[in-house]
Amino acid sequence: MNISFENKRILVTGAGRGIGYDLALAFVKSGAEKVFALSRTQSELDTLISESPKISPVCVDLADWNSTKRAVEGAGPIDVLVNNAGVAVVEPFLEIRPESFDISFNINVKAIINVSQAVAASMIDRKVSGAIVNISSQASKVALWNHTVYGATKAAVDSITKAMALELGEYNIRVNAVNPTVVWTDMGKREWSDPEKSKPLLDRTPLHRFAEIKDVVHAVLYLASDKADMVTGTTLPVEGGRLTN
Ligand code: NDP
Repeated sequence: MNISFENKRILVTGAGRGIGYDLALAFVKSGAEKVFALSRTQSELDTLISESPKISPVCVDLADWNSTKRAVEGAGPIDVLVNNAGVAVVEPFLEIRPESFDISFNINVKAIINVSQAVAASMIDRKVSGAIVNISSQASKVALWNHTVYGATKAAVDSITKAMALELGEYNIRVNAVNPTVVWTDMGKREWSDPEKSKPLLDRTPLHRFAEIKDVVHAVLYLASDKADMVTGTTLPVEGGRLTN
């Protein structure tokens, strides 16, 4: 299957490292005209843009609604948006702090609405079909120890994915989500490197392994491409079968 993003302008949030970094490069390799890489840390964006002249940095804090809206509008027309940026504040239920709740929902949920509104409004104005992919998690569908708030944000991501698909469908804008298991990025390693902690999760995963970044990248490229022209409102697990039991 040949997936091409020729003549497409892409925006990837959280592209400074991890999944977003590889996603930006994968879109370039798949022929994208331009990839806008949004993140908060300029030095990480500098490293990314040194890999391809087709990548442009958008350095902004997604927690700042107005600055983010201005920065996204400043990038100009976008055909494909990947809402990948996310934070994971991990703490036991009995110790959840209000600030953990606020920052998690601000970045993982509210920022998706903000960025998607700006991008979708421009797609509608230009009368182009578009694709939006939100990065959710298996934690939206199963309870994981110490992940109450994170799981709640990702359940909200699944919910807004469906709601966006419902309301944007008439403009031929498709909206889907990808729900990975643990992925070996900074975030994944921080929480799951301890074998004692990861064993119970792996034991319930039929493929007995966690995901690599490329597993998530492939799912995103498919959902963002014209190969998924009839797919919208779905949440695609990339979790080695963990959700079977
Ligand atoms: P990383 O922590 O490796 O990278 C996250 C990226 O998002 C960084 O570039 C970070 O930049 C950026 N980011 C975070 N907060 C903000 C902000 N306020 N403004 C702008 N950029 C921000 O995460 P992953 O690559 O592992 O995760 C990517 C997505 O995948 C997330 O949504 C995560 O929830 C999801 N996911 C990850 C899994 C895993 O095990 N890794 C499993 C399932 C889902 P900076 O630090 O400079 O702000």
